[in-house]
Amino acid sequence: MKIANKQKKTGKIFVISGPSGSGKTTLLGKLIQDREISKLLIKSRSLTTRPKRSQERQGKDYFFVTRLEFKRLLKTKKILEWTRYLGYYYGTPKQFVDVQLKKGKNLGFCLDLKGAAILKKIYPKNTVTIFVLPPSLKTLKTRIKKRCKCTAKQEIAQRLSLARREIKACSRFDHCILNKNLQVALGKLKEIIKKAIFSTGGTNGI
Ligand code: 5GP
Repeated sequence: MKIANKQKKTGKIFVISGPSGSGKTTLLGKLIQDREISKLLIKSRSLTTRPKRSQERQGKDYFFVTRLEFKRLLKTKKILEWTRYLGYYYGTPKQFVDVQLKKGKNLGFCLDLKGAAILKKIYPKNTVTIFVLPPSLKTLKTRIKKRCKCTAKQEIAQRLSLARREIKACSRFDHCILNKNLQVALGKLKEIIKKAIFSTGGTNGI
């Protein structure tokens, strides 16, 4: 006799967080390109009202929307979680997450601390939070400047000041990775993700 009660597994959520310039976006991007991980993980794309940087692509890096559109989506409950970062809005599209999780897909997110805490609260059993630490504040400054030459001095200063505060939250995460060498950090991230996907247990951090 066949057992009818075959429960479908929900996907896992991996939230990568860390200060601006820590390399979290690069790490998630590389991870998604990895042959092994690309079969296991889908990247979530956020909505943002921030202006597009020259190397960024609409729908690939973010869904760039107007403030009005963002507010409309928020009002109609199309956004799962959102934040305001240095005056711009960022949010996770709700439907995408619901559909993919129901299909049992694993999702990768790059969010600020608030976003990581909210996803952990909504999905406590299947969310793994990972904090990416930069080797130093000096490296962070260089990375922020290099990433976008048009980033205003004032914005660089704001991102750095926020980074100092964010780094202190590292211990609240399930895992913390030092991004001194990209390949080493990527290897550690892969290990964490594979272990979580192939294990059945829950997680502890924020
Ligand atoms: P950036 O402007 O550097 O691309 O992003 C600024 C910050 O917003 C980063 O910490 C990034 O991870 C975060 N972020 C991007 N999208 C979202 C989102 O949908 N929700 C939340 N909570 N944070 C986001």
